[in-house]
Amino acid sequence: MAIQDQLHQALENHFEEMVDIRRYLHERPELSFHEEHTPAYIANYHEDLGHEVKTGVGGRGVTAVLEGAQEGPTIALRADFDALPIHDLKDVPYRSKVDGVMHACGHDAHTAELLVLAKVLNHFKSKLKGKVVFLHQFAEEVAPGGAKPMIEDGCLDGVDVVYGTHLWSTTPVCEIEYQKEAAMAAADRFIIRIQGEGGHGAHPHTTRDAVLIGAKITDAIHHIVSRTVDPMESAVISIGRFEAVNAFNVISDSAELEGTVRTFKPAVQELIRKEMERITRHIAAAYGAEATFEFIPGYPAVINHPEHAEIVRRIADSTPSVAKVTHVAPQMGGEDFGYYLQEKPGAFFFTGAKNPEWPVAYPQHHPKFDIDEKAMLTASNTLGNLVFETMGIR
Ligand code: MN
Repeated sequence: MAIQDQLHQALENHFEEMVDIRRYLHERPELSFHEEHTPAYIANYHEDLGHEVKTGVGGRGVTAVLEGAQEGPTIALRADFDALPIHDLKDVPYRSKVDGVMHACGHDAHTAELLVLAKVLNHFKSKLKGKVVFLHQFAEEVAPGGAKPMIEDGCLDGVDVVYGTHLWSTTPVCEIEYQKEAAMAAADRFIIRIQGEGGHGAHPHTTRDAVLIGAKITDAIHHIVSRTVDPMESAVISIGRFEAVNAFNVISDSAELEGTVRTFKPAVQELIRKEMERITRHIAAAYGAEATFEFIPGYPAVINHPEHAEIVRRIADSTPSVAKVTHVAPQMGGEDFGYYLQEKPGAFFFTGAKNPEWPVAYPQHHPKFDIDEKAMLTASNTLGNLVFETMGIR
């Protein structure tokens, strides 16, 4: 039997365990930077397999190493394990037991996939030529995230290539989606603080209306993407908060605007940052007020190495349990996987998790988010075959 089929068979045999682990974690979600039980569970699982385990990596991360019988390259596979401050509204037996906290992005499943793959690959130890490093990452959901401190703590030392996948609840199960290069956007945050002069709503001539100035700034910065950024580039500027709390007949002395900027290239990101700052200051000045612009960098863009994205396409294409492989456009969401790809070659891809019977597929971060658990098999299979490919095992 070909090694891909052996892997597929072994994973199928462990599918029930994968589901059990996922549901166990689903019931016990932990917020970013507050993970305690989850990393301990992961460390324990790898220790039972005899893997070399490190805990507290970069804070709360866990790494485990499976050493093959023969020499060869080192391949790292990443799964994140944090949950979100969302109240689980699903009516299922494995619903979250923690009020207001939920695995609404599928990181529980990422963990189950990787743990069971580790167990199965361990059975193939005698055939493995090289090492597999399992990167169990904390705090993906909240910047500055867990990837950066884990890398600073050496989780990529000696690693030759890194892969990761994210389940996607709106893509049909058993399908893989990938991007050749730009996969996910850099996600930055900004805060604009306007200081004018307040007063009575009946006497506007004695004021510097911070709400009106905020409206002018809002309008002007929305023209940056359409008039300053090269039309062949992609960018988003969105304001999510505009606050000036007052009584109905009072003109505000101050206002705050907060939002997000999404880009794929550092040059575009820097252009937008400079333009926003300039426009903010000058519009405020034009109306006799003052404004400050604060730019808070988030995760860098996830940029795949084209050669490795091509390997993902080819390997996924011949992986049992993968029905379809599609090249898709980059998406504007953020992910701290970008940090790994700044250090090492590799790629990030998406694994469909939408059950065909569902009338509605709730998206990631929705209080009714769920996955078709079969997707975990597709993900582990593909990651496992990427290990074989990297080690030249056929
Ligand atoms: Mn996620």
